[in-house]
Amino acid sequence: MRSTITYSRLLLSGLMLGSLLAGCADREQSGQSPEDRQPVQGTAAKKIHWSYEGETSPEYWGELSEDFKTCEAGKKQSPIDIEDKDVVKDANLSAVQVHYSPSEVSLVNNGHTIQVTVKGQDNNIVLEGKTYTLKQFHFHLPSEHEVGGKHSEMELHFVHQSADGEFAVLSVLINSGAENAELNKLWSQLPKEESEEATVIGGTFDLSALLPDNLHSYRYQGSLTTPPCTEGVQWIVLQEQVEWSADQIGAFRSIFPHDNRPVQPLDGRKLETEG
Ligand SMILES: [Zn+2]
Repeated sequence: MRSTITYSRLLLSGLMLGSLLAGCADREQSGQSPEDRQPVQGTAAKKIHWSYEGETSPEYWGELSEDFKTCEAGKKQSPIDIEDKDVVKDANLSAVQVHYSPSEVSLVNNGHTIQVTVKGQDNNIVLEGKTYTLKQFHFHLPSEHEVGGKHSEMELHFVHQSADGEFAVLSVLINSGAENAELNKLWSQLPKEESEEATVIGGTFDLSALLPDNLHSYRYQGSLTTPPCTEGVQWIVLQEQVEWSADQIGAFRSIFPHDNRPVQPLDGRKLETEG
């Protein structure tokens, strides 16, 4: 069953302010009720056109708007190239705890990616004792993070936010191989054109089916990978990569031939893994 609901209803229900932003996080303003928040259409990130090509491509993002200055001037930007020589084991870190359960989800093509909004507040991760609630997830092709200078074919970003407003993004790198059967629930209804209405997926979607078995990760402090490139984002890039079929990757590529920001300098930041 396919049905649609309007975005204003999604916004009013407070599910996800930033659903129309392609970013790795929304610009939710804490301390306001959902009704008080500005519609996404009213934010600079929506008004200022940005893209992955030509004069509005990543190298120009910082010049497109005052609000995007961090894209150019920031020193803790994402994504990065993860090089073995930079990775330090930290015995104080333990593997991220992921608490995902089958959930009601809806899809939107926001012009930059396919974004999946997850209904409710039941899905979260715990990182060193702090809980971050899942807000949305979305995809990049090829991967944004590189490992040893190499892209994976795709990358999935699960975007979470803590009660005090901090973002944590759990990243899964994807290569072609076996089909992911659960993904077909989403991929059978991929919105090919930019959509203002969300496509609600019937039944529930098992989010954990998108994760690898092993949750060991690379950790670093970075930013949103889309304008306004806001910093203060905790990144958790899972080391074990997952497989999707070539057809599943191809289906996304047919809509978004490439939607990745190039890697940014590590600039002396700590890049850690569980010790
Ligand atoms: Zn992302």
